[in-house]
Amino acid sequence: MPERWMRSTLKDIRQYYDPKCQNVVRMDTSVNVLGPNPVAAKVLEECASMDVNQYPKPYSDGLREELAQFYDINPNMVIVGNGSDEVLDVIFKSFLEWGEKVVTPYPSYTLHSWFVKVNGGKVNEVDLTPDFQLITDDMLSASGKVAILCTPNNPTANSFNRKDIERIIAEFDGPVIVDEAYGEFAGESFIPLIGSHDNLIVTRTFSKAYGMAGMRVGYLIACEELTDIMNRVKIPYSLNRVSEMMAIAALREREYVDRIVRTVNEQRPRLASSLTKMRFDVFPSETNFMLARSPISSSRLTSALADKGVLIRDFGSKRMLEDCIRTTIGTQELNELLVERIEEVLSECL
Ligand code: PMP
Repeated sequence: MPERWMRSTLKDIRQYYDPKCQNVVRMDTSVNVLGPNPVAAKVLEECASMDVNQYPKPYSDGLREELAQFYDINPNMVIVGNGSDEVLDVIFKSFLEWGEKVVTPYPSYTLHSWFVKVNGGKVNEVDLTPDFQLITDDMLSASGKVAILCTPNNPTANSFNRKDIERIIAEFDGPVIVDEAYGEFAGESFIPLIGSHDNLIVTRTFSKAYGMAGMRVGYLIACEELTDIMNRVKIPYSLNRVSEMMAIAALREREYVDRIVRTVNEQRPRLASSLTKMRFDVFPSETNFMLARSPISSSRLTSALADKGVLIRDFGSKRMLEDCIRTTIGTQELNELLVERIEEVLSECL
């Protein structure tokens, strides 16, 4: 029986969220609602005549140099990968011994714990406060070799207090990962602290504000001593040439990123007020998605909406998130569609 051969620490691992719906409006994945990045899409067209017989550069030097220029740092401080998920995996592969613990807040991004477990580690979860802020003393007193958090936090949508994160970086005895997948929306970053903190690793992605989720490009920035270790572990050539060229073009063109940040900032209070009117409890958001407690069972709401062609994410089965849903903040048109469909579901439930 193949199950017997599976590594014992992986027995409770399940496949990732993978809804099998077609022709639905996706408000469940927090991607850019303006559609594909136009500059990157143009590069994709030009790539039709590319000589695909050649390998890419093993460590994606072109994109690393572009990112280094963008942040005014040394290219050796940058590692790029197949989505920021790949660079998160590289971090745990590089630093975790078998059975070692990773400190992480709860609730947070489920794949953080998943990467820890598939790399043989254990997760030491530290509850957030009821308003989803870090309890810094508890994070620092929890035992673990590595600490990881994301800000803005997924799925709660708030940013953590900057001072709390700064204290964790300064006092935690080991690598601290700050996942900034939604950093462009919050308009803040911990990258400037890397020069003075050799334990800090910041991860970012082209999947959200840059509108390139389908091309799978992410990166990490850390001091050279850390990147030297991680480069020895990373799969060479993991980023294909087309994605790399698209990301370089996307990074040079700011208009699209600025436009999605503006759109989200405009639409956020409107969507929040529509949901509040329908008796949702909306939590503060500093990113392009929103967490809200539903007035009816969140699983019932989510599946009724899916039947009507709109996908949102149900978090109701998680402790502290009972009856909570997460939705992407859409364009005005998308939000109106979502609100209309929710109204229908609620009226059908009465
Ligand atoms: N970190 C967080 C907090 C995320 O929400 C996501 C995507 N859902 C990722 C990392 C991974 O993004 P990607 O692999 O597409 O770069």
